[in-house]
Amino acid sequence: MKIKCPICKSTTTWEENPFRPFCSEKCKLIDLGKWASEEYRIEGEEAEEKDKEDGETVKNQ
Ligand SMILES: [Zn+2]
Repeated sequence: MKIKCPICKSTTTWEENPFRPFCSEKCKLIDLGKWASEEYRIEGEEAEEKDKEDGETVKNQ
């Protein structure tokens, strides 16, 4: 069975693929990183405030 990697959209196989549904360990780690950063945003309201401050700093410069 052929599947498309949700990260890089390249075609890979489902069978004998230790990283499924991804094509490689790299794409699997990218997906894990995405989830980790989203979780961090939801859990920490302080982090959101920090982001705002950073944005204003960039604007002022
Ligand atoms: Zn991939």
